[in-house]
Amino acid sequence: MALSNLVNNLEESVTLSASARAKQLKAEGRDILMLTLGEPDFVTPNNIATAAKEAIDSGKSSFYTQAEGLPELKDAVGSYFERYYGYGVSHEQVVITTGAKFALYAFFAAVLDLGDEVIIPTPYWVSYAEQVKMVGGKPVFAVATQENNFKITTEQLEEVVTGSTKVLILNSPSNPTGVIYTAEELTLLGNWAVAHGILILADDIYGRLVYNANQFTPISTLSEEIRNQTIVINGVSKTYAMTGWRIGFATGNPEIIGAMSKIVSQTTSNPTTVAQYAAIEALNGDQTEAENMRAEFEKRLNMLLPLINEIRGFEAIKPQGAFYLFPKVSEAMAIKGFSNVTAFCDDILEKTGVALVTGAGFGASQNLRLSYATDFETLFEAVNRLKEYMGREF
Ligand code: PLP
Repeated sequence: MALSNLVNNLEESVTLSASARAKQLKAEGRDILMLTLGEPDFVTPNNIATAAKEAIDSGKSSFYTQAEGLPELKDAVGSYFERYYGYGVSHEQVVITTGAKFALYAFFAAVLDLGDEVIIPTPYWVSYAEQVKMVGGKPVFAVATQENNFKITTEQLEEVVTGSTKVLILNSPSNPTGVIYTAEELTLLGNWAVAHGILILADDIYGRLVYNANQFTPISTLSEEIRNQTIVINGVSKTYAMTGWRIGFATGNPEIIGAMSKIVSQTTSNPTTVAQYAAIEALNGDQTEAENMRAEFEKRLNMLLPLINEIRGFEAIKPQGAFYLFPKVSEAMAIKGFSNVTAFCDDILEKTGVALVTGAGFGASQNLRLSYATDFETLFEAVNRLKEYMGREF
């Protein structure tokens, strides 16, 4: 079958394929520990599920809504921004989408022409580069090293900017590193983008999953100029354990948001109506469960990080947010005779049953990603197996 160039140039999502492989081995009866998943292991809080049930029982979930989302949900997003960002957003500054993932796609489709460049700090979340390519844009990578706490600087941006640069992506807290940029660092990056007339795509999806008294500062709160240049992407998946409901949103410049809404109206139409009603309750309702889940992730992080660093050849920095560790494993690879991190990751799965994600898909050839969105018992057992696999120093 002659498939399109678009599809032939598209990489599969390494996070989804790693999970699929692990699930397959599990189905074959292998004892697999899944540390691959980018989603909370909790079920959606009760108050949210109840709101969805009520929407079904009353019949209001049976119908299409406005393609760009229910006005009541846009109001809830507006209040959410007032609470967590300190500024409000009007209806024409909000579009509700089928997951934050589709908000990103609609954004790239709305602003990129053929050959327009998007600067993607590396390590990056797997879908950015592929989505940019899907709409004819060109991903350009600015590589942040582990030694620099996985943060890029304006000097690095200067090295990669060209006359075709249209967008800078910032994802803080980051998937896969968990790193958060400080307000000072973001001010420098934001002012740099403003000075160059470059749009900022701020993926704030992990903004509420922040640990150990660290602070998340949304870049859009730093100045009027920066906010005017920024489209914020956010959603309910990670904060409220709602990955299955598929509700995300984007806020910012009404012209760009209007263009994104047009794309939504010609592709997905409105996100599932019942999920929109659930999302209203998530954003407006009691936040206790969201805080409990955050606190649980924090405990796991604090327990897991020192243990991971005890594994021979593993070296992880302490993240401030999200729910991933991203250890450098170059020494471990050398000990085991691997030069390719994906082959190393596969060997770990085969020999120990611990499923991790190769750093290669995130643009990092020396690292592995492990998710601590799983229970303590699984995490302890995974560490023990990895320690045994790597052996001891003599
Ligand atoms: N952005 C980042 C950095 C993510 O890690 C994810 C999910 O893995 C998303 C966006 C998309 O989230 P969703 O489409 O579930 O809202």
